[in-house]
Amino acid sequence: MTLRVLVVEDEEPLRLALCDALRAEGFEVLEAEDGDAGLKLALSEGPELVLLDLMLPKRDGFSVLKALRQDRLAAAVIILSARGEEWDRVQGFEYGADDYVVKPFSMKELLLRIRAVVQRSEGRAPGVAQPDGKARVGKALVDFAAYTVEKGRERHGLSRKELELLRFFLARDGKVLSRDVILEEVWGADEFPTTRTIDMHVVKLRRKLEDDPEAPRHIVTVHGVGYRFSKDGGAR
Ligand code: CA
Repeated sequence: MTLRVLVVEDEEPLRLALCDALRAEGFEVLEAEDGDAGLKLALSEGPELVLLDLMLPKRDGFSVLKALRQDRLAAAVIILSARGEEWDRVQGFEYGADDYVVKPFSMKELLLRIRAVVQRSEGRAPGVAQPDGKARVGKALVDFAAYTVEKGRERHGLSRKELELLRFFLARDGKVLSRDVILEEVWGADEFPTTRTIDMHVVKLRRKLEDDPEAPRHIVTVHGVGYRFSKDGGAR
């Protein structure tokens, strides 16, 4: 199957270069030069991947990303941004971006990241099942297709990594899971996270899932080992 990539970028030389490089790699390419056009095209064409600039005319990249996820578009999204400020990066992942590339980037780096993101979104990362349906964690309802979790009146976006970690936990309800196993199964060998990465993702998931993130009942720390997950919240 030919993968379809939507390039949303207002700098024409960069957009054209991206489109050429992607076509040369065998992708079918769609392009938009502002946020409005990008959003429309994404919703009407449903590409598998969106390369999204942040500073765009008419509608900025974050707003496009938010609207895409609200519309339950499951396309993988890689943010292209000038000098990545940490805030941008965090914000991007909060809104459900899959990766983040800082300009200027080499085409080679971008293509590597595209491949990694596409593979993950096809569920080929180790230990990760295909995205499917919804799951309940205590009072929270996780929607894997929409990248969201709803708890009471709150609705939060989930990054793909948060979803993968959650899917991993759900498949191992009640078991104690070491950080090493989580790293290997959820992050895989082609990435270089530290155990701190897991802890940061857990903190984010707790904020979205737990009634009291300071006294978690679903993702409980097992000191010196890792975590124990409990769907029903009995893992105190
Ligand atoms: Ca721009």
